[in-house]
Amino acid sequence: MTTGKLFILSAPSGAGKTTLLKRVMADLPGLAFSVSHTTRLPRPGEEDGVDYHFVSREQFEEMREQGLFLEWAEVHGNLYGTSRPAVLAQLESGLDVVLDIDVQGAAILRNSAAIAAVSLFITPPSLQELERRLRGRGTDSEETILLRLKNARVEMQAALDYEYLIVNARLEQAIDTLRAIVIAERSRGHRLPTGQPIEMLSEL
Ligand code: ADP
Ligand code: 5GP
Repeated sequence: MTTGKLFILSAPSGAGKTTLLKRVMADLPGLAFSVSHTTRLPRPGEEDGVDYHFVSREQFEEMREQGLFLEWAEVHGNLYGTSRPAVLAQLESGLDVVLDIDVQGAAILRNSAAIAAVSLFITPPSLQELERRLRGRGTDSEETILLRLKNARVEMQAALDYEYLIVNARLEQAIDTLRAIVIAERSRGHRLPTGQPIEMLSEL
């Protein structure tokens, strides 16, 4: 029995998903980030166990064979996966969990009868602005930026499969929208924002 709620967040790389998430998670207690496993190399400033669990392709494939991923996908030439035991433990402890996963992973979970999730897609206002942000971030090589821009065109086509769409044009406005969606979803289905059941209902 899980008590937390699962949120799936997808966006083309550079749309601002990490920026939005960090701000909203700092504001809302009870929201946990699922740290994925990846074969990608760490970017400057990224920490193992915090941003990702950085593993070799062999380690990843071994985990995959053991069925340890709730979902996994190859994105921009690297493997990424969500740890099944870690997410289930977080949900069971009453935390709401955010998965920052790509459109393939989101489709896998959306089609899974085993787990329910709320899905959100973040778009940049334009491809031109996306390119500006990817370059401005200064963390990726020219080759990586071009690959991510090419993939963005494909990923954007999945936007309408998600329950919520957030256009990240003005940052503060997008943060407010994401926060509001999480709060609204937490108020559904007889749950208080902290994940506690409504006690008064059991007294009636
Ligand atoms: P993602 O996690 O989606 O790949 P990031 O959060 O790393 O994207 O954001 C990419 C870059 O765009 C960062 O340099 C970030 O500061 C910047 N950024 C994010 N949101 C906005 C916004 N609304 N306006 C301008 N720049 C933004
Ligand atoms: P980045 O390398 O920029 O951190 O992430 C690249 C892409 O991989 C993003 O779209 C991100 O959402 C996705 N991603 C990160 N972790 C996972 C995961 O566990 N599963 C899947 N399917 N995608 C992931």
